[in-house]
Amino acid sequence: MTDARMAAASVVDPEIRVITIDELGILRAVEEDGASGRVTVTITPTYTGCPAMDVIRADVRRALAAAGYPDAEVRTVYSPPWSTDWISDGGRAKLAAAGIAPPAPAPTPGVVALTLAVRCPLCGSPDTEQVSRFGSTACKALWRCRSCSEPFDHLKAL
Ligand SMILES: [Zn+2]
Repeated sequence: MTDARMAAASVVDPEIRVITIDELGILRAVEEDGASGRVTVTITPTYTGCPAMDVIRADVRRALAAAGYPDAEVRTVYSPPWSTDWISDGGRAKLAAAGIAPPAPAPTPGVVALTLAVRCPLCGSPDTEQVSRFGSTACKALWRCRSCSEPFDHLKAL
């Protein structure tokens, strides 16, 4: 991993501060031009309408400048679209540890998912219900566990 890649990968998601943009899977590429020293970072937004992307762009540029790359460009690429499958295993573990239910893997195309089982991150019970489509941020939904009656955030699966 290059220094530029490490700097960009260390940026945390502004909405879910326990996870980096690398673990979230939205950091697509970090290219360094050896001659000019210019760095081009490619990111793919998570949820449409998430205001976090402006913050992420600014944070990436700041992290690269601090690592000695003042000339950085952040490109946004929408294709292929980000999906929750891109969250790394380490990222999922961090989400669970923070009490955020990691999204289920996307269903196989052509297969109808009968139940969207969201497990309670506190007690592990699958007996949960959605309380509100929007939790603490537009990207998360608020759920409640029927077993321990604790509310929790669920990162919406895409
Ligand atoms: Zn529970």
